[in-house]
Amino acid sequence: MIITLKRKTPDIEKEKLIHSLEQQGLRLTVSEGINFTVLGLMGDTSKIDDKRIQANQWVESVKRIDVPYKLASRSFHPEDSVIQVGNVTVGQSEPIVIIGGPCSVEGQQMMVHIAKEVKDAGGVMLRGGAYKPRTSPYSFQGMKTEGIKCMVNAREETGLPIVSEIMSADKIDEFVENVDLIQVGARNMQNFELLKELGKINKPILLKRGLANTIEEWIMSAEYIMANGNPNVILCERGIRTFETYTRNTLDVSVIPIIKEKTHLPIIIDPSHATGDYKLVEAVSLAAIAAGADGLIIEVHDNPECAWSDGAQSLKPEKFKALVAKARKVAEVVGRTL
Ligand code: PEP
Ligand code: MN
Repeated sequence: MIITLKRKTPDIEKEKLIHSLEQQGLRLTVSEGINFTVLGLMGDTSKIDDKRIQANQWVESVKRIDVPYKLASRSFHPEDSVIQVGNVTVGQSEPIVIIGGPCSVEGQQMMVHIAKEVKDAGGVMLRGGAYKPRTSPYSFQGMKTEGIKCMVNAREETGLPIVSEIMSADKIDEFVENVDLIQVGARNMQNFELLKELGKINKPILLKRGLANTIEEWIMSAEYIMANGNPNVILCERGIRTFETYTRNTLDVSVIPIIKEKTHLPIIIDPSHATGDYKLVEAVSLAAIAAGADGLIIEVHDNPECAWSDGAQSLKPEKFKALVAKARKVAEVVGRTL
C-alpha cells in the first residue's frame, strides 16, 4: 500500500500517521520528495481501512498494490483448495463436477425422477431450490421444508449430494442437517450477517456472485465466511447485469482465470442464470470448461414449459446428457477429466 502525503504536511502530522501505522504492525519506508512524501507500507494491510486514511486531511492519495482479502488470497495459500461435498471433491486437481436439477423443487416424485436422469447423464450432484428468492412476492416462493425433504429423499434414492439455497440465518440448522452444499444466491452475496453465521459451520458453501458485484467484492464475501472459520467455499459465476437485454445476464468468462490467479478457491459456472435461455446453455457451458471452470451447475427439467420457475432456461434431460458428453471432450482438450 502506498500513501502519498500533501506538500507542506507538518512533521508532527507525518510522525503521528507513521506511528499509528507502525502500531498496527506494519513496516514503513518513507521517501521525501520535493512536492510529496510517500509512505510505502509492508506487511498485512488487509485490516487497514483505506477510507479512514483518506479522511486524514494531509493525505493526498491511498493506493493499494496488494488486495484487501487474505484467507481467500492465492498469495496467502498458494495451493489450490479442494472442497469435499459428500462423496464428491471439487477443485482444480479434481475431475470437473456437473450439477443438475430443477430451479425449484416441485415434489417428491419429480425430484427423484430428475435426480436419476441427472445421474444417468453424468451429473454428480443434484440442485433444487426449496426457498426461492423471487423478484415478485406473488410468484411461487418454494416448497420450503417440504422441498428440502424431497431433496433428501432424492439423495437417498440416487446417492447424489444435494445443493440448495439458503436465504436466512434462521434456517442454518435445517440446512446443516440436510443439505450437502449450501448455496448463497446472487441476491444474498452481500448479506454479511448471513455470511458471518455460515462462517461458524463447516459445511461447504456455494457462493454465487452478486448481480452487479465486482470480483473484489465477491472475494471479500468469501473472505467473510472464511474469516469466521469456514474455509469450505466454492465460488459460482452466474452472469452479471450489463446493458444487454438479449440475455438475462452476461456471463463473465474472464472471471475464471482471474479467480484462479487471485484465489485458491474452486470456481463453477451457472450457464442457466447467466443466459436465461436454454438454447444458449450448451455453448456457454463449453466455453466455461475451456476457460478452466471446475464445474457447472445447470437447471434441468422434464417439462420446462410447465416448470414452476425458470423454465425458459431449463434443459430437458436429453439435452443435458448431450451437453455433458460434449463437455467431456472439451475437458480433455484442456487437460481435465469429467
Ligand atoms: C438459483 O440458483 O435458482 C438462483 C436463484 O440463482 P441466482 O442466485 O444465481 O439468481
Ligand atoms: Mn433458477
